[in-house]
Amino acid sequence: YDEELLKLKSLPAVTLDGKEIKLMANLDISEEMSFIIHNCADGIGLVRTEQLFEEYEVFPDEDQQFEVYNKIAESIYPKVVIIRAFDIGGDKVLPVDLHEPNPMLGWRGIRLLLDSPNLFKTQIRAVLRASLHKNVWFMLPMINSLSEVVAANQLIDECKKELTEEGIKYDDEIPVGIMIEVPSAAVLTSDFADVVDFISIGTNDLIQYLLAVDRGNEIVSSQYQEFHPAVIRTIKHIIDEAGKKSVPIGMCGEMAADPFALPLLVGLGLESLSISAAGIPLHKKILRSLNYSELKRLADECLNLKNEDEINNKLHKFFNEKI
Ligand code: PEP
Ligand code: MG
Repeated sequence: YDEELLKLKSLPAVTLDGKEIKLMANLDISEEMSFIIHNCADGIGLVRTEQLFEEYEVFPDEDQQFEVYNKIAESIYPKVVIIRAFDIGGDKVLPVDLHEPNPMLGWRGIRLLLDSPNLFKTQIRAVLRASLHKNVWFMLPMINSLSEVVAANQLIDECKKELTEEGIKYDDEIPVGIMIEVPSAAVLTSDFADVVDFISIGTNDLIQYLLAVDRGNEIVSSQYQEFHPAVIRTIKHIIDEAGKKSVPIGMCGEMAADPFALPLLVGLGLESLSISAAGIPLHKKILRSLNYSELKRLADECLNLKNEDEINNKLHKFFNEKI
């Protein structure tokens, strides 16, 4: 079985009827790089930069960050790497301990970055410097409103100007995109699509905020349902609205890595998934054994179902019959 997976790892992830899906990899620690290349990922769809420096006692300066980002960008070149701005706060590491009553609803992601422009600009400059070979995309976490994108773009422009004045080269057209992982951003997908270069759905947070279920709380973990009808229909809404504006759309949350979810997600119209590198060969095997036309039918049926159990059963039945 393992040998069979190994054999197809360098083949494209394409359905029997020719629909090609990009399978990218998530990167949390630098050591994963060789495994990502070994498993033939179509690029890196999410670098969790806050994890890269988890072991540092003080915040990494621009040169330290540049070195790490540049190494990743060079290793995956000419494929793309999507570097996400620090998503500090919530369940993530913090430079300071905040003692917030509700950290998941607190000072995290883009909120913290915009309130800490020096910290944010240090990262932006490091990412820009690593973008020289044009395979780096920059992604903003926890976006909630258009004004956050405007404010982030202002800081990016400032950094570009500074670098130009200093004679340092970078990709002037570096794509800037957002994670859609807060329900408000999902609702406003169409508006965001006018101002960003790409969108990535972060299901880990999107599910927690959409269903009001803490992703890390075991007491309510049975309520954390990736196949909740509201989740499926929200994902569909995001894909359709981004599609209307031809904005590239992917998914980088854990749902993208779930083999049972895969037929549904592709049927809903996703063409790019970012998962842990270990899952890429199996995803490839599944996709190469299916027809896109039947996945679209499957997705339509799921969109009409009224509860999680029905959708879950349908997807498991489909999987067991076809795979
Ligand atoms: C997500 O929320 O789905 C995501 C990919 O981001 P993280 O898991 O780092 O919060
Ligand atoms: Mg998230």
